[in-house]
Amino acid sequence: MRLKDRIALVTGGGSGIGRAIALRFASEGAYVVVNDVKLDTAKKTVGELDGGRGRAIAADVSDSAQVRAMFAEVERELGGRLDILVNNAGIAVSGGDRERLRERAEARIAETFAGEITTHWDVTMNMSDETWHRMIGVHLNGTFFCTREALKLMSRVNRGVIINMSSVAALSGLDTVPHYSAAKGGILSLTRALAREVGSRGIRVNAICPGYIETPMTAGISPMMQKVLLSRTPLGRWGQPEEIAATALFLASDDSAFYTGQWLSPNGGLVIGG
Ligand code: NAP
Repeated sequence: MRLKDRIALVTGGGSGIGRAIALRFASEGAYVVVNDVKLDTAKKTVGELDGGRGRAIAADVSDSAQVRAMFAEVERELGGRLDILVNNAGIAVSGGDRERLRERAEARIAETFAGEITTHWDVTMNMSDETWHRMIGVHLNGTFFCTREALKLMSRVNRGVIINMSSVAALSGLDTVPHYSAAKGGILSLTRALAREVGSRGIRVNAICPGYIETPMTAGISPMMQKVLLSRTPLGRWGQPEEIAATALFLASDDSAFYTGQWLSPNGGLVIGG
């Protein structure tokens, strides 16, 4: 039991990677607060936790008032203790944009084989303020809002672990999602700065930069794009949420006691060397 009696909060725990992390942490003895923007998905994950050791709290992490209310509930109900925070909640491109990108991606793949690219991504020049702000709001602001509240609890005992979900998009940039890449890059830089800021309090801050993982977020990637991505991945397959949960468990446990300000990238070899 590597997390026996620790209290963890996992944002976006109702689906995909967050759900897998919540389940793994509970199986290692943690009590898990599962956050999600929808209460029913958070509750569903709690229902699957080993021994039912957890509670569900709905909050939109991009809204600082909702985040403050969530942490007030943690403080009230759990004696003001928080050992582990996983900033995992996230969004990808929305429906209409996804369709447009899919069409362009398929055109570009065909053109690449034909030897002449005439289809351009043109994502940034057409992006609305709203789309940009929403992406930064959920990922980067959400990570900041939750971290700010968690540090208030962790600083009381000068102990704690924060794990931020970044992405390979932060390491190499993704042409189709500049806003997502910027948000994930911001999260990585925040991780490094925080590690320096709060290390003297015994609080460790690290990031995970997953490659392509099979979750509802990536379910919309077209079969042709999937083949292209697989061809660039030495291990020749996508990752599973449980493989990211294993990395999160390492970073949450005392096995990583000398790690802070670092990133680990389970990515099948898609990005090597960062
Ligand atoms: P997912 O299956 O879509 O899970 C994300 C969860 O976060 C969903 O339950 C989602 O709720 C929730 N969420 C969205 N906005 C929220 C908000 N404002 N407040 C609270 N919860 C919110 O996606 P995933 O693939 O597991 O992704 C988890 C994290 O890993 C994300 O940060 C993602 O960027 C990162 N990541 C994923 C991959 C990948 O290949 N899958 C690769 C690298 C990094 P709704 O479903 O209702 O929106």
